[in-house]
Amino acid sequence: MLKFLNCFWLWFHFLNLRLGIGIGGRMARPKKAAYSFACKDIGMDCGFTATANTEEELMAKIREHARTAHNMQNIDDATMAKIKAAIKKA
Ligand SMILES: [Zn+2]
Repeated sequence: MLKFLNCFWLWFHFLNLRLGIGIGGRMARPKKAAYSFACKDIGMDCGFTATANTEEELMAKIREHARTAHNMQNIDDATMAKIKAAIKKA
């Protein structure tokens, strides 16, 4: 019985430790997306918005959207400049 209680105590502490690390980790690296983009911000009549944790990830989503929704196989330099200006950093 004592052995079982000891075991439970250890397990409880382990859980607490894990929880503590979890909370600390979340505070250090927020889950909230850091970059966002709205298609209407570059003058498009379009309700598309995208969010991502990195600019690269966001650009990938925008490229995909431009290709599938706006039939842009390549984003030209002028549009790219508009997109970069429209990207919001949280
Ligand atoms: Zn769009």
